[in-house]
Amino acid sequence: MMRIKNVNGISYDSNAYLIDAKRKTLVDAGMSAGRVLQGLGGGLDLIILTHCHFDHVGAVPDIVKATGAAVAMHEEDAAILHRDMAAAMFNARRPEFGVDVLLRDGEVIDLGDIKLRVIHTPGHTPGSICLYEPETKVLFTGDTVFEGGSFGRTDIGGDPEAMLRSLEALTKLDVSALYPGHGGAVTRRAKESLLASYENAKYMLL
Ligand SMILES: [Zn+2]
Ligand SMILES: [Zn+2]
Repeated sequence: MMRIKNVNGISYDSNAYLIDAKRKTLVDAGMSAGRVLQGLGGGLDLIILTHCHFDHVGAVPDIVKATGAAVAMHEEDAAILHRDMAAAMFNARRPEFGVDVLLRDGEVIDLGDIKLRVIHTPGHTPGSICLYEPETKVLFTGDTVFEGGSFGRTDIGGDPEAMLRSLEALTKLDVSALYPGHGGAVTRRAKESLLASYENAKYMLL
């Protein structure tokens, strides 16, 4: 059993999932450091960012300052982090922070008692990732897949063809639950939801 708590995710802000593992880990940070820090209720070891957009990374500098957590993200989004177009959409300055761990496809992140596999899913951004926990078959999907068979936009630095390939690859996974970057989690019929996202993307992007 993996304990997951969403400590953010109001309005346009992204979800921020706290995984209560030996290494306390946050999947995405959102933009509201105060709310996230309150939700953490203690220390934090690691922040894994699903991609570079401001609504997911804006709170990183303040959370790192408060907790000393390390920051991990895919190398391709780390490379474009400081010229993120999406920051402008939120009327915010680009957040300045260092990335401690550069991630690649297939890499396993060891949280002590939980292991997360990095799945590179370009399309929303070049370095978007999903995180897969093989024991419980939970998938953190960032802005690649949302509930209700929807998927991430590809018009802010994304690539529709890459999105289709990524969604197709995800449909091959055995999943029990999806934890997207916005909106609710999918805890029932998660596989069907993934397939619906892929079918909808084929219809809308081809
Ligand atoms: Zn995004
Ligand atoms: Zn987002």
